Amino acid sequence: MRMFFSKTSQEVLGKLTYPPESASMVLGRIEGNFIRVDAIVPFEMPSQSEGRCIISVSEKLNNNAIGILHTHPHDEILPSDKDIETVSQIFPKRKAVIFMTEKKSGSWLINPFLLKNNKLTMLESVII
Ligand SMILES: [Zn+2]
Repeated sequence: MRMFFSKTSQEVLGKLTYPPESASMVLGRIEGNFIRVDAIVPFEMPSQSEGRCIISVSEKLNNNAIGILHTHPHDEILPSDKDIETVSQIFPKRKAVIFMTEKKSGSWLINPFLLKNNKLTMLESVII
C-alpha cells in the first residue's frame, strides 16, 4: 500500500502543533493499492486528560472519513489498545487507517496501520 497526501492535507500537517498529543479525522479513499489522503481535519476540542487527548466515539463521521491521524508525543508511535478500540467503534464494520505520527526536525514521520476485522496491519512509513 502506498500513500498519497494532497497539498491541502500537507498544509494542515504543516500547521499542526506538536506536542501536545492530538487527533484528527482523515478524509480520503482507500484504493486497491494505495491510500489517498485528501484532507486532515483536526478534532475541534479533543478532551485532554493529563496531556492525553481522548477521542469521542460520538464524533460525527464524514462519509469520506478513512481514519484517524494521531500523535503520541510521550509514547511509542504505535496505536494503543484504547486507540484501536475507539477507532473500531468510530468505524464499525469498515476498514480504517490509524496514522500514527511524530514530528522530527520539521518533518512528520507517519506510521500507518490498517485496521480491518479487528486485525492491525502496519503499512509502509512515510516522511512528509
Ligand atoms: Zn493514542
